[in-house]
Amino acid sequence: MDTMTYDYTEPTLSAKGQRMRDILADYIALISHRLPDDVTAKLEELSKIEVDPLQKLVYDTMMENQLLANKLKRPSCQDTGALQFFIKCGAQFPLLGELNQILKDAVYRGTKKAPLRHNAVQTFDEYNTGMNIGDGIPSIFLQVDGNGTDISMYVYMAGGGCTLPGAAKVLMPGEGYEGVVRFVMDRMTSYGINACPPLLVGVGVATSVETAALNSKLALMRRVDSENPNANAAKLEHLLEDGINHIGLGPQGFGGQKSVMGVNVENTARHPSTIGVAVSTGCWSHRRGLINFDADLNYDLPLNKGVELS
Ligand code: SF4
Repeated sequence: MDTMTYDYTEPTLSAKGQRMRDILADYIALISHRLPDDVTAKLEELSKIEVDPLQKLVYDTMMENQLLANKLKRPSCQDTGALQFFIKCGAQFPLLGELNQILKDAVYRGTKKAPLRHNAVQTFDEYNTGMNIGDGIPSIFLQVDGNGTDISMYVYMAGGGCTLPGAAKVLMPGEGYEGVVRFVMDRMTSYGINACPPLLVGVGVATSVETAALNSKLALMRRVDSENPNANAAKLEHLLEDGINHIGLGPQGFGGQKSVMGVNVENTARHPSTIGVAVSTGCWSHRRGLINFDADLNYDLPLNKGVELS
């Protein structure tokens, strides 16, 4: 059989587009080895709760792993995931028309810079592109919001193990929010261990499978210690957190006091005849970044305090 190759020509970008691409390539390389501040703080907090030597050893190993990853600038985990972007952008952001090309080329260049593992396999043709980009990779979810000139984007490395528990289903309305809990707990008891706990569990509630699934992913973009502004949804977050902790997965599935870093629920209004529910999971090495640009490409990194890109 002939060896297939992926046809990629580096795009011709405007000078400003090149600058944005280069900043993003640097940021992608950074988040491959440096966990966001909220995740680091939560891992430290959870490590102090465990009492048995095995669980303490697992957390100590994670901390040492992170020290070395940051010192050597090498990925926190060998699986550097498939890149996903969740973006909110004003309609007047000057690079909107070039954005897809900028993001794809940033992943291409960031992959070489970091370096990242090559995780893009062309579906049905079954070959690895060897570039970490492919048809539809990176995944880009864009919401144009208002007439402003700023852009805000989450950058996420969706690893294989932490993506595996993901599922979505449309429930009969009579199943109620108890059905949501049953669905999430079924997934966590059967697949949660695959995702390298302690987990960040994202739950989406909406009309259909795709709206619920997107909500569940947006839930993973929220900080681990955040709370849904709706009191009932926040209560569901706490109840699910208690329930999943009681499964006793513990760090890396070795058992222990805590199985999750947190449970985040994201919800939108839904059709009265359906309850769409989805679950997505993030692992202990939850490599999710956030970068905000203004129209002149001044940027800030709210999840990585004190970091300078290079
Ligand atoms: S689940 Fe996370 S830590 Fe485990 S192998 Fe996948 S990316 Fe790495």
